[in-house]
Amino acid sequence: MNIFRRLPVVFIYLFAIALLAACAQPTPVPTQRPVPVTAATATPQTAESPTSNGPTLALYDGHLHYSSDVWANYPVSKIKSLLDQVGIKRALVSSTPNEGTVRLYQADPNRIIPEVRPYRTRDDMGNWFSNPQIVAFVEQELERGIYRGIGEFHLNSDDAKTPVVQRIVDLAVERNLPLHAHSNQAAIENLFAANPKVKIMWAHTGMSVSPDDVAQMLERNPNLWAELSYRSDIASNGKLTPEWRALFLRFPNRFVYGSDTWVESRWDGLPNLILSARGWLAELPTDVAANIATRNLESLYGQ
Ligand SMILES: [Zn+2]
Repeated sequence: MNIFRRLPVVFIYLFAIALLAACAQPTPVPTQRPVPVTAATATPQTAESPTSNGPTLALYDGHLHYSSDVWANYPVSKIKSLLDQVGIKRALVSSTPNEGTVRLYQADPNRIIPEVRPYRTRDDMGNWFSNPQIVAFVEQELERGIYRGIGEFHLNSDDAKTPVVQRIVDLAVERNLPLHAHSNQAAIENLFAANPKVKIMWAHTGMSVSPDDVAQMLERNPNLWAELSYRSDIASNGKLTPEWRALFLRFPNRFVYGSDTWVESRWDGLPNLILSARGWLAELPTDVAANIATRNLESLYGQ
């Protein structure tokens, strides 16, 4: 009997796939007026007008990279077309070097939210937190006046206790720039210990941190938002898992959709990533889905 109860969901999913495949251009989406949300608010926001959270749900992306190794095959014009095609209306972008982010931002300033990355080259990824030159580099980059956040950077455990990291955290607070941290739980706690006023977007929601531990982290740290790229455990066989549904309903203002285009194959696969995200978003109450899809990113990085 179980299969008959599942049939309608299967049909809805197949319909969504067929609709997306048939459209070279996305169907126009209803414009959603952003609703300010705060980390302390534990109840879903109420949209002014009901919107579909099916295949046409407006989507913002909290984790795109445009690093130099993809520039040849994905010039700026192609990125813009791809974002149009998959329906990404705004996107938080970082890159190595930062020039990729600047190029995309200059071509599409209304869509691109630029983050400054503390990496001059990929070689900085493993030791930026202990290199004093990185502070001067980030300060110099910030003089461009375009950046809305600092990240995505990689940082784990006690590496988050260095003077360099302390200075970056203080810079973030002084200039109201959220950090985008690819970090384990210990590093997130160390960043908040460095300055409790800092706002952190947790890249990949800790990647492999259990849903129970994610809940504890969000409960304990009101300035923590969780970005969902690479969380393949959100859905199983295309269905939202009970653990993640419970997390999204308990913390409707704290999760942000993300794709993470860190290599070219992730750009190639972006339509499929978006399609599967739209699948599990469609299982959530409309307001919660809209928060994860757009509003939570906007509340953290502004309009
Ligand atoms: Zn990452």
